[in-house]
Amino acid sequence: MRTFQGIPVSPGIAIGPAFAFLDDEEPTIPRYAVTESELDGEWDRFVVAVDKAKDDVSAMRDRAAREMGQEHGAIFDAHLLMLDDPEVHEAVDASLRGSLLNIEWIVHQYEQGIVKRLEGLEDPILQERTVDVHDITRRILNHLMFKERFSLSDLAVDVVLVARNLLPSDMIAMNRSRVKAIVMDAGGKTSHTAILARAFEIPAVLGLGGSGRAIKNGDIVVVDGHTGDVRVDPDAQTLERYERVRARIAERDENLSSIAALPARTLDGKDVLIKANIEVPEETDSVLRHGASGIGLFRSEFLFLQPGRAPSEEAQYAAYSRVIAAMAGRPVTIRTLDVGGDKVVPDLAFAEEKNPLLGWRAIRYCLSDTELFQNQLRAILRASEHGDARIMFPMISGPVELDAAIAALEEAKAECRRRGQAFREDIPVGIMIEVPSAAMIADILATKVDFFSIGTNDLIQYTIAVDRGNEKVAYLHEPFHPAVLRLVKKVIDDGHAAGISVSMCGEMASDPFAAVVLLGLGLDEFSMSAVSVPDVKRTIRSISAAEASLVAAEALRLGSHQEIEAFLAVRLAEKVSRG
Ligand code: PEP
Ligand code: MG
Repeated sequence: MRTFQGIPVSPGIAIGPAFAFLDDEEPTIPRYAVTESELDGEWDRFVVAVDKAKDDVSAMRDRAAREMGQEHGAIFDAHLLMLDDPEVHEAVDASLRGSLLNIEWIVHQYEQGIVKRLEGLEDPILQERTVDVHDITRRILNHLMFKERFSLSDLAVDVVLVARNLLPSDMIAMNRSRVKAIVMDAGGKTSHTAILARAFEIPAVLGLGGSGRAIKNGDIVVVDGHTGDVRVDPDAQTLERYERVRARIAERDENLSSIAALPARTLDGKDVLIKANIEVPEETDSVLRHGASGIGLFRSEFLFLQPGRAPSEEAQYAAYSRVIAAMAGRPVTIRTLDVGGDKVVPDLAFAEEKNPLLGWRAIRYCLSDTELFQNQLRAILRASEHGDARIMFPMISGPVELDAAIAALEEAKAECRRRGQAFREDIPVGIMIEVPSAAMIADILATKVDFFSIGTNDLIQYTIAVDRGNEKVAYLHEPFHPAVLRLVKKVIDDGHAAGISVSMCGEMASDPFAAVVLLGLGLDEFSMSAVSVPDVKRTIRSISAAEASLVAAEALRLGSHQEIEAFLAVRLAEKVSRG
């Protein structure tokens, strides 16, 4: 048995035969000299191949938009733009005429140059754009060399798909019902493959480095999308163990799914709301299946993390409307663009920053890019006509920033009125509480908004001064740090004193132990990834609000996160299981 470790990007366990999708191996590109008189012929071949590539991509765009929504079609719009880019055509023409070499070689060299430039950049998101460049040039080269790509839509048996670098077009084209898991050498959490794998609920482990190459067609592979473990040719014992784990997860999921339809009601009759966080519109099915009562956080920035231009007002309007319609009257909280920090959008002009997490991100960026912000606000406002939408501003640090965001919203409303576009006039407006300064003045901010949502991922980062993405200090990113608990309590109390509801959409809300403490502190709403909803619902249903208050009060008296964890482990041992 061989074991590899990658980045778990989409949960689930799958066992099956590998299908090594080697189509992405470097083809042999012919290189030969051409004469001056042959140059025009070479150029014509290029134009024809580009046209055919455009036909392929347009067909794929239409299919993606039809099956998954306009925003996934947008991936291919960006490819079409690149195929039509006059600068690319000029560069290829100049290189052809300058070198007197065949067009396949010129295209190949051109690709290599761009890939090298992108790979030399520090930004991992820009590095991942090499996938798109590769996708396009491969398509042109295939037409030039009359080579048909094996289509993953032809997959007729269940497989674990192993690739060096699955292209976005492959993900769209593949026969998804046959792909039980994805294993890939390249890619990270923000790559399209990861985003799409999660949206399709296919377990996936990416970023294996070169190890994926060692997996051959037909090898039996175990993929653990929770831990990032990939086991090839597992021995009988390992197979049995994973079968047991898989069966346990399946059984657990089945038990939990029976909870989906039940209310999130404590033993003494207190109702809380359990909602889901989403990144892409396709997740609404999963949200409903897992029994969430709404969407507490739609991370809208994922619509922007596509290559090409930022999505237009119309494209955003379509995406938001689709989500709101799918939720059929249940509440949907759309967070305005939270970019910067670790989420860099390729097409927005980010300066090199020394401390990006303390820099030009989220609401700060939006307030400085009026056109982009107004487009988004109008798109959300217009979509609010179709159901129960709410607007939420991220990273608010104080009242001046909040006033500016509210003024921007009023301006967007005025423009919609001027255009005669309908929207919900009294759309609720809330803020993320994820900066300690905001938590400390929650009483002041509460007078200006309709709801709070506590973003503990960032609140912990900024309170304990610990970069949430740095594995060396990950042990400090601790939800039960007494400072965090006190801030959370203050935000809930201040929100309630002002008569507004308080939610939490950070990861902390999905931990069953934390859920008891939060319930005891009086939190009104919990929001988390859809797969965690049944677990937390079960937790809420297994305890009384009165007992949770006692647990929370005791936790608040303790002096360290270790003491709090130890106390909860003993106190909740009989009632609450942690996954
Ligand atoms: C948070 O900070 O807790 C949060 C929910 O926002 P994000 O994880 O998108 O920063
Ligand atoms: Mg945040």
